[in-house]
Amino acid sequence: MSLDIFPLAYESFGVRSMATFLETKDLKVIIDPGVSLAPRRFNLPPHPIEVEREEDCWKKVKKYLQRSRYVFITHYHYDHYNPLEVDLLKGKELWIKDYENKINKSQRKRSSDLIKRLGDNSNINVADGREFDVGGTQISFSNPVFHGANDRLGYVIEVFISYKKESFLFTSDVEGPSLEDQITFILEKSPKTIFIDGPMTYMLGFRYSAKSLEDSIENLKRIIDETDVKKMIMDHHLLRDINYKEKIADLYKYSEEKDVQILSAAEYLGKKNDLLEARRRELWHSQKNLI
Ligand SMILES: [Zn+2]
Ligand SMILES: [Zn+2]
Repeated sequence: MSLDIFPLAYESFGVRSMATFLETKDLKVIIDPGVSLAPRRFNLPPHPIEVEREEDCWKKVKKYLQRSRYVFITHYHYDHYNPLEVDLLKGKELWIKDYENKINKSQRKRSSDLIKRLGDNSNINVADGREFDVGGTQISFSNPVFHGANDRLGYVIEVFISYKKESFLFTSDVEGPSLEDQITFILEKSPKTIFIDGPMTYMLGFRYSAKSLEDSIENLKRIIDETDVKKMIMDHHLLRDINYKEKIADLYKYSEEKDVQILSAAEYLGKKNDLLEARRRELWHSQKNLI
């Protein structure tokens, strides 16, 4: 058996999430078991198709959560864990973002609620900067890095898992990565497969600057040049933009020359993207035409 990676819910599947299940001979783990929808996009609420998709994705995450002995939570946004179904985390080995240090006010409140509700039913470990082995599988967590280009939304931790010759890295919500600090752990671990939260281009010129996009592309090129990466799975914030491929066209070209594949989570599974949030206006509009 090797290191098997199963993306469960992502923007490319039509929801907000980075929920991912991994399995080796020794380990069954789910990273960030949460699914959500943008409450408003294009000034519109979620379309019923999105609501249905959210339910389907959550069912799938739940199924894999039940199979997992380990659960990692990289930060406390509701697309990364589900505060309404905390019972599903009971009895698990939890490795979670430090809830006292390098955390903003809103996430401090959420994490303290989560811990209270878990009570004594789980083995809770603060993950930041730590590592451990399960049999022949190695797990490491980065030190906290910014959620995006600054600390306004707090901090996240990155996850690295290796087994035999396979290796995987999960960046969590770096929105790029536009900062040197966010690629340090990636360059150090040199994974073969990386699941990246790509640049937040749907907010370009508002909450995401052209400079952040430019820096992210430079950093992603450095990852291609300086690590053993073969597959870069870019999703989450990046796939909220229907034209995301154009925004990183330069990077696609560069990766092809270097024989590195850039894929969305859906494409990684051989499926087509289904960008429901990015198409929300169209979804509501086509419904109006039917009435
Ligand atoms: Zn987040
Ligand atoms: Zn997120």
